Amino acid sequence: MPHDPYAWIEKSLTTIHRADWYRSVQTIDGRPGATVVLAGQEVINFASNDYLGLAGDERLIAAAIAAIEEFGTGSTGSRLLSGHRKLHRELEKAIASTKQTEDALVFSSGYLANLGAITALVGKRDLILSDQYNHSSLKNGAILCGAAVVEYPHCDVVALKTQLSQQRQNYRRCLILTDSVFSMDGDLCPMPALLDLADEFNCMLLVDEAHATGILGKTGAGCVEYFGCTGKPLIQIGTLSKALGSLGGYVAGSSVLIDFLRNRAPSWIYTTGLSPADTAAALAAIEIVQQEPQRRAQLWENVRYLKALLEHLPNLKLLPSESPILCFQLPNATDALKAGKYLRDAGIFAPAIRPPTVPTSRIRISVMATHQAAHIEKLVAVLKEMGSGEW
Ligand code: PMP
Repeated sequence: MPHDPYAWIEKSLTTIHRADWYRSVQTIDGRPGATVVLAGQEVINFASNDYLGLAGDERLIAAAIAAIEEFGTGSTGSRLLSGHRKLHRELEKAIASTKQTEDALVFSSGYLANLGAITALVGKRDLILSDQYNHSSLKNGAILCGAAVVEYPHCDVVALKTQLSQQRQNYRRCLILTDSVFSMDGDLCPMPALLDLADEFNCMLLVDEAHATGILGKTGAGCVEYFGCTGKPLIQIGTLSKALGSLGGYVAGSSVLIDFLRNRAPSWIYTTGLSPADTAAALAAIEIVQQEPQRRAQLWENVRYLKALLEHLPNLKLLPSESPILCFQLPNATDALKAGKYLRDAGIFAPAIRPPTVPTSRIRISVMATHQAAHIEKLVAVLKEMGSGEW
């Protein structure tokens, strides 16, 4: 029989299907918003990272169109060659000003910002301590850089301290990695305690503000601002693709750090600069976040309202959350898929999240500033039906 070196791929897919871990894309028509048309059906959208409802905002769209008119569609090269535009620097200055850091660097995505920063900062002689629930981009950055990687139990600063006491002295540099808002759980990292440990053990601390940017803290600067840690020695990563409604990622920190990354972060050096449209849309979004705090206030009002209504549904196993991300746990992937379908049939888009993305299956709900009270009430009514077990 002739060899087929690709035959394993189909077998692997079959295994994925059998475990109910198979994933496929779903088409959304039209602009993003609190309701969307999903495969032809209008649904209430609890599946979006567009927390402030800016991805379909006329002002972002106008800024993107104006940038295309002026600069064209593509950046045409890496930032260090032909791909740098004045818009990139304006955006970096706006991010640094929001974050109150000396400087910032814009990457083509948040994922690439994490890969770039981690691989530039640590290597074979170094140690990474990483929260077990960190986002894939932190985990893969840790693998890619070649450092020794130790995962500590989720948000467990006592366990982290034990690891540091046992291992720190064996390595040259140490980098602690954490999401600030955990993307598949919705809880927050213990940032002040992490900063104390970083100080005590002479470690760098990198926090991923992807789900905090624009929504947490008095001015929307993120979890760092929320915890009163502005100005502390840490490396902040974020994305322009969630509350800021665009695409791209950033690192914010000292000017020395940013200068170093411009010289050493491969996922920044060897990739094409962010497109003019994405850059301009993110800049417009940052201005709106600053000028319209009422959007953030409305988001948190919606979160409070949903949480208050969910208190009347004791059968749902809600995970602890301090963010617009709310998850309820289900026994397995099959039940999670069934729950997702039930919600969908009732006009609610709230996806099932299954292993290997998360250790346990769940339905993930993300609240937006643009949700109406009626949207939230409908979600709760459908969850109530599910909680009563009639599905
Ligand atoms: N970090 C976290 C915590 C995220 O949730 C995400 C996006 N899912 C990223 C990084 C990656 O950001 P981007 O989508 O801009 O690549």
